[in-house]
Amino acid sequence: MARPALIVHGGAGPVPVAERPLRQAAVERALAAGWALIGDGALAAAVAAVRRLEDEPLLNAGIGACLNLEGDVELDAGVMEGGELRAGGVAAVRDVRHPIDLAVEVMRDGRHVLLCGDGASRFARSRGVETCDPSTFIIDRERQQHGGEGQGDTVGAVARDSDGRLAVAVSTGGVHNKWPGRIGDSPIPGAGIFADDRFGAVCGTGQGEAFIRLALSRLMVIELEHGVDPAVVAKGAVALLGTAMHSVGGVIVVGREGSPQAAFNTPAMPWAMAE
Ligand code: ASP
Repeated sequence: MARPALIVHGGAGPVPVAERPLRQAAVERALAAGWALIGDGALAAAVAAVRRLEDEPLLNAGIGACLNLEGDVELDAGVMEGGELRAGGVAAVRDVRHPIDLAVEVMRDGRHVLLCGDGASRFARSRGVETCDPSTFIIDRERQQHGGEGQGDTVGAVARDSDGRLAVAVSTGGVHNKWPGRIGDSPIPGAGIFADDRFGAVCGTGQGEAFIRLALSRLMVIELEHGVDPAVVAKGAVALLGTAMHSVGGVIVVGREGSPQAAFNTPAMPWAMAE
């Protein structure tokens, strides 16, 4: 019997100080939504938290996501379960109301790990996953900020249930002003997410290109495998982002046992946990 735990983050992007309490409150609402389902398993809890955050316009996932160079929203999302290393991801989708739901469907279907663009949307329709008009995701704040740069505020959650199963879920609009078709680290196992019940599960936020180049999530789980303490793994990962990539971001980590951990090298990253 394992001790259940859930940790949720709302991204490590640059945020005006005045907005931080609002984002923290959004993350805490999502934590409550996820924790309510922890009895249904780690995947259910992590997905419920992220699904909730896809509806929070303050954060860069689902409604309120940042815009690409052409002023469109393209969404990435991913899930991974640590039991059999099953994973599902979607990238650059424009019309899927909850990209995290589609990532779960990709994983359940099992033929592929990552679907993008139109093919992902067609897969959504074939599986009865809700679609919507792309304008649903675009809010005034993002229209006004269009042309800015930097990473947004990806949302993610990592859970451990009472059977010791681990799961991670993540959803994002990516980075501001990205090239159309750009895919970030979030839906890519080993880059933005990784889960292995034997060792731990992690989720990242920050400059996706750096996470991909470092295979940072996989690296973190290898460190857990070698017995490195989860808090040390988290701090080491953000330090490596800085030293190796001159980059910024944050991570959340849940080991096989013990409390969830978070670390970031930006001014703020809203996060909350329950155990
Ligand atoms: N990692 C995300 C991406 O590069 C952005 C973020 O975390 O804010 O797509």
